[in-house]
Amino acid sequence: PGMSDKLSKFLDSGIYRFEDLNAVFIDPVRILNRSYTRFRVAPSAYYTRFFESKHAGQESGVSSSNLRKRKRKEKEPHSLNEREKAAEQRHQEARPFLLKAHECLLRATDLLEAMSNLRGDFDPLQGCGNSQSPSGLQQPFVELGQDWQSALYDITLNFHQHEKPTADGGSAITGYTEQRVLPIFDNLVVNETSVDVEAEFLNNRYVIPRQSCFYMVSHTSMFFFPFVTWKSDLRQIQNLIPAESSCGFNLIVVDPPWENGSARQKLRYPTLPNRYLLSLPIKQLTHKDGGLVALWVTNREKLRGFVEKELFPSWGVRHMATFYWLKVKADGLLINDLDLFHHRPYECLLVGHCHREAMDSKYLSIFQAVQHNQIIISIPGDYSRKPPIGGLLLEYVPGFKPTRCLELFAREMTSGWTSWGNEPLHFQEFRYFSTQ
Ligand code: SAM
Repeated sequence: PGMSDKLSKFLDSGIYRFEDLNAVFIDPVRILNRSYTRFRVAPSAYYTRFFESKHAGQESGVSSSNLRKRKRKEKEPHSLNEREKAAEQRHQEARPFLLKAHECLLRATDLLEAMSNLRGDFDPLQGCGNSQSPSGLQQPFVELGQDWQSALYDITLNFHQHEKPTADGGSAITGYTEQRVLPIFDNLVVNETSVDVEAEFLNNRYVIPRQSCFYMVSHTSMFFFPFVTWKSDLRQIQNLIPAESSCGFNLIVVDPPWENGSARQKLRYPTLPNRYLLSLPIKQLTHKDGGLVALWVTNREKLRGFVEKELFPSWGVRHMATFYWLKVKADGLLINDLDLFHHRPYECLLVGHCHREAMDSKYLSIFQAVQHNQIIISIPGDYSRKPPIGGLLLEYVPGFKPTRCLELFAREMTSGWTSWGNEPLHFQEFRYFSTQ
């Protein structure tokens, strides 16, 4: 009976907690849907991979014969260089936690059954979008942002409020609509209402969740004034958000476009050399009483070293805990062998505190101690799409209400969050949603 209770909680919240373990299984679709009032993220548009176990290996774009070759190659013994040894040591430290969490998942039979149904049997073309498959058409933002005319592009927000306050303090159904036309690039676009808003841009439609905003940076500014403008762009975000006495963010999630040499990645979005990230003004963005910063990193040892020795110190972030995102298929099995050297089935999230002033115990006491080695298990969505972990992190930033949250390099929007990047509307397109 305990199990079914947990399962019903999961079906409600999208979060399944494994008892006595620092691990959760999450359904990103259920979590994302907390942001929406009228629209629903369509499971079939989120889960584009890892559901057809019959063709295992092919979903990730790797043919099974290639996979066999790769495995053989990776198993060939060769002596590790210093960096590889350091990476292996990190892996060995995380391994017992990852294995334990995965074993628990495989024992949770009720959850496993629910997992196999997470995508449902919907036809992916049934959503409210057009007839394109979600991973098919390229989004135009990165390209349009490179256009010297990018400043002239507008987005139209259609506010449909069906309830309007009346003079006597009640509310009346009026069905009023309001249209706002705003520059789409280098501008903070806000939906301050408590309902989803539909937006239009160049014949495409987008869903903007309640109480959320995006700032889509164009490349023109970055190209002509490389990275100095980044700072000013970001400062502009702060200026544009209604200033309260304590300005700044309490929670900042960053998922940078790390360079990794994969041609496949380069086709999807532009990447940035590490040194440019040093100038991101994380400290200035942080709330005056400090904030939690969470950074997604890949498993490359060189990168981990850079973050620990250079990036976090230059941002003023003190590393507190490492979380692991363990990737499984719909049948509960890992997407790759746990020990496959270059293709680990997990990614890391480094969590730290950022303080504008010198570190002092007053700040630290506001934040809950972040538990180390937490494991978040989920079935991945599109290429490079991270699971929505913002809500899980919120419990560590109590005391700030409402919590001010910022996602940098975002490709989607969340209620209560500011999304910054060169394509924060990417996953907001109609084709990823259905109406209910
Ligand atoms: N967290 C996202 C998700 O879950 O979908 C993925 C982020 S992806 C790793 C990095 C993003 O940064 C891409 O959308 C990429 O286009 C964007 N990007 C690359 N260079 C950028 C730049 N100079 N300024 C802003 N965004 C940039």
